[in-house]
Amino acid sequence: MNIHYLTLFPEMYEGVLGTSILGRAKEKGIVSYHAVNFRDYSGNKHNKVDDYPYGGGAGMVLKPEPVFNAMEAMDLKSPRVILMCPQGRPFDQKMAEELSEEEDIVFICGHYEGYDERIRTLVTDEVSIGDYVLTGGELASLTMTDAIVRLIPGVLSREESHQEDSFSTGLLEHPHYTRPREYRGMEVPEVLLNGNHRLIEEWRREESLKRTKERRPDLLSDQ
Ligand code: SAM
Repeated sequence: MNIHYLTLFPEMYEGVLGTSILGRAKEKGIVSYHAVNFRDYSGNKHNKVDDYPYGGGAGMVLKPEPVFNAMEAMDLKSPRVILMCPQGRPFDQKMAEELSEEEDIVFICGHYEGYDERIRTLVTDEVSIGDYVLTGGELASLTMTDAIVRLIPGVLSREESHQEDSFSTGLLEHPHYTRPREYRGMEVPEVLLNGNHRLIEEWRREESLKRTKERRPDLLSDQ
């Protein structure tokens, strides 16, 4: 998979994409990351990427030319082009699964008041990572990248498997315990110590259901 970011702040990507599982996925050749500064494609001599809104009002608007020019320069066959936008479809695990099968993904990251509406003609999806407003799309695109890349086969090791993760099963995940068996008076549930795999599975399933009912009953009604 090739992931491209159209951004005014390519330096924001280096640390996150070079670290831990995202960095390993790149080293293994499973994914490549390309942060492109669309200021380089402004098409004007002052490298201006934003301008005042027609009709007046506060804030600056991202001009169409830099984004169109940068997209054309990338010349990708049939990418998923995702506009990071608080007004978009809310991102979730299902969308991460769907996107993990793509060949090329482009994230367009805004950083001002808004986009010139004509930029929307370039995109296949408008996506929000939650009902709050960030200063720019960079952190949102990194959040999505993390959720997507870990689902690509070969990225996680068997121990790190995502099959049992919250949302993958439609439920929240069951509680976990590790050594020591007793810590400050808090005991590990007996069922996890007896080696009976059937009973352990049953306990995990019940705990998973209980946790989902308590914390996210909306997930149960989605099933
Ligand atoms: N004026 C815009 C509005 O009210 O919809 C918000 C612009 S925001 C300050 C600047 C940029 O941050 C957006 O263009 C988008 O790329 C990104 N952004 C902010 N919040 C986001 C969210 N919840 N999900 C995805 N991207 C977001």
